[in-house]
Amino acid sequence: MTTSHAVVATPETIALAAAHLRAGDLVAFPTETVYGLGANALDAAAVEKIFIAKRRPRSSPLIVHIADAQDARKVVRLWPNAAELLARHFWPGPLTMVLPKSNAIPAIVSGDLDTVGVRLPEHPVARALIRAAGVPLAAPSANEFMQLSPTAASHVARSLAGRVAMILDGGNSDAGIESTVVSISAEGHVELLRPGAVRREQIERVLGTAVADAHWDKQGSAPSPGMHERHYAPHTPLRLVSRQSPLPDGAGALISLGTARPNLPNDLTEIVLPAYPEAYARGLYAALHSVDHPDHAWIALEPPPQQPAWEAVNDRLRRAASP
Ligand code: AMP
Ligand code: MG
Repeated sequence: MTTSHAVVATPETIALAAAHLRAGDLVAFPTETVYGLGANALDAAAVEKIFIAKRRPRSSPLIVHIADAQDARKVVRLWPNAAELLARHFWPGPLTMVLPKSNAIPAIVSGDLDTVGVRLPEHPVARALIRAAGVPLAAPSANEFMQLSPTAASHVARSLAGRVAMILDGGNSDAGIESTVVSISAEGHVELLRPGAVRREQIERVLGTAVADAHWDKQGSAPSPGMHERHYAPHTPLRLVSRQSPLPDGAGALISLGTARPNLPNDLTEIVLPAYPEAYARGLYAALHSVDHPDHAWIALEPPPQQPAWEAVNDRLRRAASP
């Protein structure tokens, strides 16, 4: 049985969703980053349904979500001091830690890697759902592979209609972009796999050391499989266009930074996002969803400055605009 409609999260609907998860079915649920598409992380057959629903390649590992920090030990084999330190500072919250995985986690969750990403989300509905299910939840973003992440239940309903048992509506995602992903070695060395809602500089302050980007290994395999150059993209071609540059011809929409662009044609749709990284991230995907429309031949977006505070937003914009 599948659905195309979201239901408001209540104790009753959360209990029903938890029963679906225990029965091996998929449930979309809100988190503070973006909406997730969850399955019982301990059940390989349930996790397989995620890859089918999203049309996601098996090589792209999933993040496992827990509701209580002590449950991390059931998911990972090692818990270096750096993990403890980062968990204390950033959990619950938008930080994913990739660590050597425990045997409880089936290979399909982690794309056959010996490591697994684990996160304790802050959203109360996410935590209530994980607790009610009584198992960790493997959950990527609740959208088709490579496409825009959902920050509202309506976005999920549009992209995964008929492919999930339930969609829980818990309001708009607060952070609005995906979690920061770090890898932590057995020796406790921390590297950045994906910039996200927790800034690199916040992590560096807690650890007292610089955090570099993860490097490619000698075999040439990517440090974080699943991080494709094109990702998080609308269907409509997205171009990054500075305020000084002319807009493309034809029908399209403009996403401006901070203030409206003067002298625009009357029939052009413009959305102005705030010139503050957190506020911008919160509104970005919803803005892209709202102008990603067959009537538009292009979406032009005025890029934010190349500054550390904008690292995660600029990463997503580069991928979304990648051909
Ligand atoms: P998402 O699709 O937003 O859930 O993000 C999951 C991403 O986290 C994957 O595509 C990888 O880039 C990264 N990731 C998750 N698990 C691992 C892992 N074990 N090793 C490296 N990267 C991982
Ligand atoms: Mg995703």
